[in-house]
Amino acid sequence: MLPYAPETELETHEVTNQPSPLVDLNLYETDVALREAVRREAGDWLDARALALGEIVGSEAVLTLGADANRYRPELVQFDRYGRRLDEVRFHPSYHQLMALAMAHGIHDLAWTEARPDAHLAHAVLLALFTEAEAGTMCPINMTYAAVPALRTDPGVGGYWSERLIGGRYDAPLRPIAEKAGITVGMAMTEKQGGSDVRANTTRAERLGEAGGEGLYRLVGHKWFCSAPMSDGFLTLAYAPDGLTCFLAPRIAPGGERNPIHVMRLKDKLGNTSNASSEIEYHDAVAWRIGDEGRGVKTIIEMVHHTRLGTISGTLGIMRRALAEAAHHVAGRTAFQKRLIDQPAMTAVIADLAVEYEAATALVIRVARAFGDEDEHGRAFARLAVALAKFRLTKRCPEFVYECMECLGGVGYVEETPLPRYYREAPLNAIWEGSGNVIALDVLRTLAREPAAMAAYVTEIEETRGAHPAIGPALDALVRDMRSEPPAEAQARQSVERLAILLQASLLARHGPAAVADAFIRSRLLGEGGRCYGALPAGADLATIVGRQAV
Ligand SMILES: Cc1cc2nc3c(=O)[nH]c(=O)nc-3n(C[C@H](O)[C@H](O)[C@H](O)COP(=O)(O)OP(=O)(O)OC[C@H]3O[C@@H](n4cnc5c(N)ncnc54)[C@H](O)[C@@H]3O)c2cc1C
Repeated sequence: MLPYAPETELETHEVTNQPSPLVDLNLYETDVALREAVRREAGDWLDARALALGEIVGSEAVLTLGADANRYRPELVQFDRYGRRLDEVRFHPSYHQLMALAMAHGIHDLAWTEARPDAHLAHAVLLALFTEAEAGTMCPINMTYAAVPALRTDPGVGGYWSERLIGGRYDAPLRPIAEKAGITVGMAMTEKQGGSDVRANTTRAERLGEAGGEGLYRLVGHKWFCSAPMSDGFLTLAYAPDGLTCFLAPRIAPGGERNPIHVMRLKDKLGNTSNASSEIEYHDAVAWRIGDEGRGVKTIIEMVHHTRLGTISGTLGIMRRALAEAAHHVAGRTAFQKRLIDQPAMTAVIADLAVEYEAATALVIRVARAFGDEDEHGRAFARLAVALAKFRLTKRCPEFVYECMECLGGVGYVEETPLPRYYREAPLNAIWEGSGNVIALDVLRTLAREPAAMAAYVTEIEETRGAHPAIGPALDALVRDMRSEPPAEAQARQSVERLAILLQASLLARHGPAAVADAFIRSRLLGEGGRCYGALPAGADLATIVGRQAV
């Protein structure tokens, strides 16, 4: 009891100088850099879809679903009440709503339903937009998209599964796929003793007799990471008699019973909480061979290649959300008698972050466009450029999100804003689908073995030689250095960074705007300015750069 009786409720303060939450904005309409990049690479056919999704995923309702799907963690239910195996993951309803929304907008299959060269670009754009609301669901969605080229290498079962996948809707309960409105497909490669080095896999595959039918095997072994254990099937690797082979392991066996794929536990992860990454074991699980025995890596690599497009698009979505939150906050808050955005030191931070985002956008959209190229030149470019983009963007992302968080001051560190969640999410796209060193070494191998890849890269940059005085000399120096001595493994990261930055510089020089291109080229390519964000070289046109970020 208080020692006095207050007569009225005390008015301690009025809430002022706090911006409103960044909700109910169309995430596509308000993203100038993304819209411009899409327009130049794909024209306007995607506008209606991107605007429709941008409106929904920017709504307070869907942003709340994203927060809830991560607050209420998925739970593993291994057994029913009488001890029979279930191996089910129970998700919060928000997760199912998000999955249904993503599939209704075709993020999992648009690249395959639209017979156009820029259909993969559409996948990338929609995935980036969705990631702004929720990142974890994009793992099963992106794997489902990426499974198609691997499945299609098999005209029989694989072809049937890809037909069920394309045009499908979210249908969560476990049933034979013939009875479902749509399916999802996961990937299970990584084992305890080796993730990057999949040849160290120990899972074994034994051919079943004639009764099992051609191409049917049983698998015994484990997988240390399997991110979407509620998928309808997994593309997986195992040693068959003739070597490492790709298989499709369905959750429902061909006879209609549950396939013995045991979910051992869920990973307790730093972030990406909505996504129920798990450890699984195959206990004589039935699987179909996809591709020839001994050709497993060659078969599944097509899936890996396509998942990498998702890792760069997802990274773009994280960066955009973080930057939009930062730009919105500093425009709506005053300190020392000025709006934060008008304080020159803060203008410099937002401008530098914006330059990074614009360069990332130009790169992702260019790479995504190349995924639809059928000729050898285009395919070689896509193989190289997606690895360059994955390395560069995912390395930049965690620090980028942290800087955006700092723009909000203390509230940025508080879970009610999305910044902590995106900060925890930020390192993941670097780690999976080829960790940093693995990607960098991959690039060196591509350059050494596929002359078409370097030729495609040089042609791309060469076209912009006249667009900015720094491009030509940087290209000449790079080609000279690479030819005189192919990069050693210890220089892999440095070489990949150099290739990626020049590609970004070239894209910005070609497409502008000039203020952004000039700031990027001087700070990243020529090394002027400082090392942390907010240290662009003197003379950079901060006002123009920042003006493009108004939300
Ligand atoms: C949240 C999450 C979900 C995942 N989901 C899946 C999934 O669904 N399916 C799946 O199959 N996997 C999945 N993974 C696994 C992921 O793809 C692997 O963790 C990744 O490929 C690295 O393998 P590893 O963990 O065995 O590390 P390692 O291969 O042991 O690598 C450890 C470190 O060594 C580096 N390295 C490796 N080789 C070299 C070399 N030759 N030279 C220099 N450095 C090297 C790597 O870059 C890395 O930094 C997931 C991982 C996470 C974190």
